[in-house]
Amino acid sequence: MGNPEIVLKGRLDGKQRNKLKSLFNMMYSPKELSDEIGIKIDQIYTVYVPLGCPQKRDERNHLLINGKEFSKWYSEVYVKIHLMPNETFCKTCKKGVAIQNPKEKKKGNLVYILSTCPNCGRGLTKILSAKRGENDK
Ligand SMILES: [Zn+2]
Repeated sequence: MGNPEIVLKGRLDGKQRNKLKSLFNMMYSPKELSDEIGIKIDQIYTVYVPLGCPQKRDERNHLLINGKEFSKWYSEVYVKIHLMPNETFCKTCKKGVAIQNPKEKKKGNLVYILSTCPNCGRGLTKILSAKRGENDK
């Protein structure tokens, strides 16, 4: 609780990562790119540019980013974290850890599991999925 979450700064959620895949091999302005992915424009200037994402300057010194190159760069920098079904990601330990003393919670259609990291004791949340549709079959 209260740990600053600086470690995974700039990591995109699943929906945003899907948007990354549909970026074109063309130059985007930071505004266009952030709109496409669904992030704040600040995230490009304060996180990705300092991290060295692919970038060019036009003749008026405006920042331009190639969509396809950015997508490739993102997947290399933010290496995909593979989790086992019985694991959840701990941002303090920076790895998947076993789910311990799970408590299943529900919020509308959203089902999630609260647990505690066995290494550092941090409170963890794992979203299982919005279970919509499963009962509709
Ligand atoms: Zn931990």
